[in-house]
Amino acid sequence: MLYRLRHDFHLSIITLLGASAMFGITPFAIYRFYTGNLVAGVIDMAIMLSICVVVGYAWLTGDNRRSGFLLALFACGGAVIVATVVGDVGLFWLYPAMVTSFFLTSARVAVTVNCLAVAVLVFHNQAFASREQMMSLVATAIVVSCCAYIFSRRNEHQRDRLERLATHDPLTGVKNRRAMEEDMQTAVAAHARTGEPYALIIFDLDHFKRINDLYGHAVGDEVLVECASLIQRYTRKTDCLYRFGGEEFVVLMPGVRPEGVRAVAENLRYKLAHELTGPVDSITASFGVAPLHLSDDADRWMARADKGLYAAKASGRNCVVIRLAEAGT
Ligand code: GH3
Ligand code: MG
Ligand code: MG
Repeated sequence: MLYRLRHDFHLSIITLLGASAMFGITPFAIYRFYTGNLVAGVIDMAIMLSICVVVGYAWLTGDNRRSGFLLALFACGGAVIVATVVGDVGLFWLYPAMVTSFFLTSARVAVTVNCLAVAVLVFHNQAFASREQMMSLVATAIVVSCCAYIFSRRNEHQRDRLERLATHDPLTGVKNRRAMEEDMQTAVAAHARTGEPYALIIFDLDHFKRINDLYGHAVGDEVLVECASLIQRYTRKTDCLYRFGGEEFVVLMPGVRPEGVRAVAENLRYKLAHELTGPVDSITASFGVAPLHLSDDADRWMARADKGLYAAKASGRNCVVIRLAEAGT
């Protein structure tokens, strides 16, 4: 439980806000029952119950996106209902609800939910003691939402940048080894669950050191960039290319059966040998290929592809060696 809280930022926010809402609302629910305002008390209880259900749903399913959206909706919806029932003192609840929307869901969705909440209040018009009070609420809600929106967009932007830095190779722009390891784990789990075939291709440019030595590192870099874009051009949208390190790349291919994998890898080898030229006539690569087997975990799967690559280098380079589970492990 602690592990999930520490490693799943969205789940921890959902849980924290859910818990804060419970602590914030419970005394009011008790107070409303105590003062005989049964309707408001029941509404508070219903809001708390909905929040509990959504937090539980997030923990059970891991669907933070939907849970966050529902929580924002219930928080703002609850604030609107409370204000409509208890009058203008209930309006204060709208502010924490509006701000928390930005923690729970995307900035755009949060703004929409907030606008909807204010629109419903204005349309119903029952919560306000005067027209001036209504105008003040609209103005302050806009200010609060605008500030939170700007802050939230900036946060989203920075988070996307950090995520990209952590998962992509800065030179070629393709995913990095870390992302590959995660995607391989996902593929192994999907294969065990649904039986969907996967193939892993690892290739290493042949005698790449010579390019660097003869033409310089910058030219070598250009070749790597060109190589990545060429492979992306000749693979499907569902395939994913990763820079494994140096001049080694990996392609993870869903939906490729063991019978078909040779043709796919041979095609890539051929395209590289004929279209990746750089400063020389032809730059080739050696390929190790491993179809995913039910007995594989990610490490064993990669080790087999790597053995294939090693064998391809040993047998003269610019060729494809496939390692099936039976032969490789
Ligand atoms: P082989 O056919 O056995 O793979 O020979 P090779 O020369 O390609 O292999 P080796 O591992 O000896 O050399 C790999 C070279 O790749 C050495 C290193 O300078 C170069 N390299 C690794 N990363 C980069 C990079 O980011 N940019 C450039 N330009 N070169 C790189
Ligand atoms: Mg090499
Ligand atoms: Mg290498």
